[in-house]
Amino acid sequence: MTDSLLVLNSGSSSVKYGIYEITGRDLCLIVKGQIENIGGSAHYTAQFSARSDLDDISMDISARNHHEALEYLVKRREGADVGAIVGVGHRVTHGGASRKSLLIDEVVLDYLRKLTPLAPLHQPANISGIDAVLEKYELPSVACFDTAFHSTQSDLVKRFALPQWLFTKGVRRYGFHGLSYDYIAHYMASEMPQRHQGKVIVAHLGNGASLCAIEGGRSIETTMGFSALDGLCMGSRCGNIDPGVLLYLMESEHMDAREMEELLYRKSGLLGLSGISNDMRELTESDDPNADFAVSYFVHHLNREIGALMATMGGLDTLVFTGGIGENSREVRARLGAEAQWLGLELDADANEANATVISTPDSKVEVLVIPTDEEMLIARHTLALLQGRPED
Ligand code: ADP
Repeated sequence: MTDSLLVLNSGSSSVKYGIYEITGRDLCLIVKGQIENIGGSAHYTAQFSARSDLDDISMDISARNHHEALEYLVKRREGADVGAIVGVGHRVTHGGASRKSLLIDEVVLDYLRKLTPLAPLHQPANISGIDAVLEKYELPSVACFDTAFHSTQSDLVKRFALPQWLFTKGVRRYGFHGLSYDYIAHYMASEMPQRHQGKVIVAHLGNGASLCAIEGGRSIETTMGFSALDGLCMGSRCGNIDPGVLLYLMESEHMDAREMEELLYRKSGLLGLSGISNDMRELTESDDPNADFAVSYFVHHLNREIGALMATMGGLDTLVFTGGIGENSREVRARLGAEAQWLGLELDADANEANATVISTPDSKVEVLVIPTDEEMLIARHTLALLQGRPED
C-alpha cells in the first residue's frame, strides 16, 4: 500500500486533519475532517474522497486532550484503506523570521515556543499538536507557518513607525493566513496563469479575516500585522484600532493585559458590535438592526482596506474571495460590490448567487473570483517537499 502523510491543524479545542496518499511528488486526499470540542463532549467527522467509496462519518467520541485526539485519528486511518503514515505536517501560526517550513527538532520546537507571546491564542494549540505527535510516534514532523508567505514584503511595509530597537526585537508586521494565500497563489498560477501575473487582492474572510495584495505570486502587503488582531473587523477581534484606546483602557478603565486580550480577541468585532453573534451567517439572517450595523461595519472596512492595498500596488486586476465568509456569503460579497463601485467593480448577481468562480460581469474593471482555499493541501505539499529534500514550490 502507498505511503501517506498526515496534516494537522490544531486549534485550542479542535483538530482539523487530512490524510494524503503519496505518489512520487503527487498527493491525493483520502480523508479529511476534524475532532471538535476536545476535552468536552468531543465530536469526530470524516469526509472521504471519491478515491475511497466510504461513507462520511459524524459521531461523538472520547478525546480528553490533543494526545487522545491524535491517537484516535491514527487508529481510524486504518479503516480508510491507506498505507503507513511517513510524516506529519503541522499548521503553525507564527514562524518568526522563518521564510520556509521547517523540519521539527528540539531546537525548532524551542524557537516556536518562544514565539508564543506573539500569537498567544494560536501558538500554544499548534504546539500541543506537535507535542502529541512527538511523544507518541517516531515520525518526521514539519512546521508550516502562516507568516512565511509574507517574508517577501519590503521593510517599508514590515516596519512600524517606532524606534529601531523595537524592530530589532521583532516588533514588526508579520502578517498571517499565509498558507491560505500561498494556496490561492499556486492555484492561480496553475489554473489561470494570466490572472496570476496581474495585481491581485485575496480576501480571506473567515472567523479571522485579512486581505493580501499579491503580485506575481509574492505577498506585497497584508492587513494583519504584528498580531492576528490588526486590519479587518473579524468574528470577535477588533481589527484596526487607535492605540490611544489601549492607553485609555489601561489608565482609565484599569484593565490589565489579560482583560485587554479577552476584550480585543474574544469580545469585539462582529460579536462586540452586534451584541448577538460572531457568526456572519447568523448576522446576515437576523432582522436586528445591530446585526445589520455589524455587517455594514465589516463591509465598510473591507472596502477601505481594499483601497489601501490598491494604493500600494498601484491598481487592481483581480479580487479573490475565500474563507468561510468569502466562499459562502453572497450577501457580504453583494454589499461589498455595491460599496466598491468606485473602482469600477461590477458583480453579476446571478453568478454571485450561484457561488460561481467568476462573479463579476464582463464589463467590470476588476475581475472578481471565488476560490475555495485548502490550507491543509498546501501544508501537505510543503511537508512532502521537505521530506523528499526538494525546495518548496
Ligand atoms: P475559521 O477562520 O475559523 O477557519 P471559517 O473560514 O470556517 O472560519 O469561516 C467561518 C465564518 O464563515 C463564520 O462567520 C460563518 O458564519 C461564515 N459562513 C460559513 N458558511 C456561510 C454561509 N453559507 N453564509 C454566510 N456565512 C457563512
